[in-house]
Amino acid sequence: MDIIRTWLWRQIDLGTFDNQKAILGFALSVSCRAVILASAISLATLPVLYGFGFLTMPIDEAVKITVAFSWLFGGAFSGAFAFVAGLVIRDLTQSRAEFERLSRTDTLSGLANRRAFNDAFARVDGEASLAIIDIDRFKSINDRFGHNAGDLVIQEISAIFRQVFGERHLVARLGGEEFGVILNGSEPAQRLALVERARSLVAGRGFVCDGIELSVTMSAGVAEFLPDRRPEWVYAQADKALYLAKSHGRNRVMHEQALSMAEESAADYAADPAVNFNGVGAKG
Ligand code: GH3
Ligand code: MG
Ligand code: MG
Repeated sequence: MDIIRTWLWRQIDLGTFDNQKAILGFALSVSCRAVILASAISLATLPVLYGFGFLTMPIDEAVKITVAFSWLFGGAFSGAFAFVAGLVIRDLTQSRAEFERLSRTDTLSGLANRRAFNDAFARVDGEASLAIIDIDRFKSINDRFGHNAGDLVIQEISAIFRQVFGERHLVARLGGEEFGVILNGSEPAQRLALVERARSLVAGRGFVCDGIELSVTMSAGVAEFLPDRRPEWVYAQADKALYLAKSHGRNRVMHEQALSMAEESAADYAADPAVNFNGVGAKG
């Protein structure tokens, strides 16, 4: 029983019966094997039965009948059974693949969900960037136009992301109005430029809510995967860069490199608060 179960799962995993032709081929091969096996067993037992005098007909007649029955019943039954089994395996394979796809897809945006993102994130190997994107002042869209309007904005922005990042990079909706992108290949500057392109397309698009055209913006933080960096660290860096982008007025993409500059200016501020205070005071 275990052998059959293991075999079944293997066929499902391999997608062996993904088309009608493959199923027919399988049914035919099972049927031929069944006929050969049934004929061989019958032909081996006939002389024994004949020797003990159990056969009520001449042995050549018995051989003909046995072979005919093997073909008719053994072949036809096992072939039909194998064909039905093949169809069932195909259906199981398809529904399993669909289930797998749905379990990794965000229902609102159609993008990858957090689960798919986490898997891809853990598997990053080599050159890649991580972008964490957050829609600016999204709550005000919900508050002003309602949750459905907010959902439509998320869907339209997701479509822009799909267009900009394509199949090569993984874009996921991490939850609410936050997205994660794993950008693969090319140079860090090119990957950053792609996030910047997404930002500029979002900012340039008019989103119509209740007949009113709205301008919506996004902020993003970008960090680099490096061989000596733990993925959690990369995530934390991208998140910090995102919050730097928010605190610098939103509608911008900040690379993690800006974090060290921000820290340096904060250190300067701490080292000589009077100068900085005077500077700020002079502006006001
Ligand atoms: P910030 O620029 O600082 O990011 O401001 P914000 O208003 O975008 O941020 P905040 O986190 O305060 O608001 C996010 C809002 O997103 C709050 C929540 O009600 C809303 N939200 C979360 N998930 C969904 C969703 O699936 N659909 C809609 N329409 N709104 C959602
Ligand atoms: Mg937001
Ligand atoms: Mg948010």
